Amino acid sequence: MLMSVGVAFAVGAVLNLISGFRNEGVDALFSFVLAIILGLFSWWVGWKKGYGLLSGATDWQRIYDVPISGSIQQLKNVLQTGGMEAVAQYPFPEHWKETLFSHSALYRRIPDELKDRLHRFTKYFLTEVEFNGGLVGDFGEDEMVLVAGEACVLILGRDYWDYRKLSLVELRKFPILDNEEFTLPWEPNAHYAGHATINTVRLHWDTALLDSSEGASGNNLILHEFAHIMDSADDGKCQSILGRTGSEEARQWEALLEEEFPKLVEAHKRGEDHVLPPYAISVDPAHITIRGIKKQRPEFFSCATEVFFEKSERLQNECPKIYEAMKGFYKLDPISWSNLQDA
Ligand SMILES: [Zn+2]
Repeated sequence: MLMSVGVAFAVGAVLNLISGFRNEGVDALFSFVLAIILGLFSWWVGWKKGYGLLSGATDWQRIYDVPISGSIQQLKNVLQTGGMEAVAQYPFPEHWKETLFSHSALYRRIPDELKDRLHRFTKYFLTEVEFNGGLVGDFGEDEMVLVAGEACVLILGRDYWDYRKLSLVELRKFPILDNEEFTLPWEPNAHYAGHATINTVRLHWDTALLDSSEGASGNNLILHEFAHIMDSADDGKCQSILGRTGSEEARQWEALLEEEFPKLVEAHKRGEDHVLPPYAISVDPAHITIRGIKKQRPEFFSCATEVFFEKSERLQNECPKIYEAMKGFYKLDPISWSNLQDA
């Protein structure tokens, strides 16, 4: 439909162009201006909206709201009429438990005494956060519940306050291109399975689903991206330093980084099979100081989070200080949870 409108505009533009060449003076000028306007409309309606939908290569341009299911809408209504307290009291739907049980290895491992709290945060999440999806009909309630449930494992020992800045989750059928606004889809440049800004998380769905179901690979896209949200909540920066700038907590994270980060860099230089992947040592230029460019280390905390939950014992054995720091921050001790083999 959009494509035929685009073609109609294009035909109009060509006809006006022809009449512009045939006429003279003001009439010609009028025709040329009209041709340009119609040409632009044709490009906008036909290409950006219409041809883009057909081509299948431009997922980055087609973002639609994920349809809100009856159960989630009901929860949103409860929020409107009774506030957060009413949402907390509202029973967690049984079919959501089934979804989480089927697709989240972490959910299966979490001790029963923590489940009520996880359900409560998951309900908050589903009422507070908007979801977009790459294709109409591709994503729905199951995907929303799984993202919310896995993401809320991170705040299980803490508080929903950690997600106060979060407002949007985008689920993608295709990987996310680096610098999407300016990169053409057919360029095989950098693309990511996930991405986080201060208030938005983007997830490549197949990766997120596979990682959640496996649970022991040390790769968990959902945990990774939502750890970025926690990292940036205080000061807007992902730098693997948690807590307010200047606080004792932030100083402790800085000290940990100063001690552990160079060891990690050396280990990867030697080609060691370290529990933390090479991606953990990525650095980003932060700002220029008198001594040069100050670097920040955005991936350390998110990668450490993945292995803290998924390779807990190995992290504790190989990097006890990192394990203790994570345990102190998350107020959780996943080693004591049921065995991964049982999950
Ligand atoms: Zn990351």
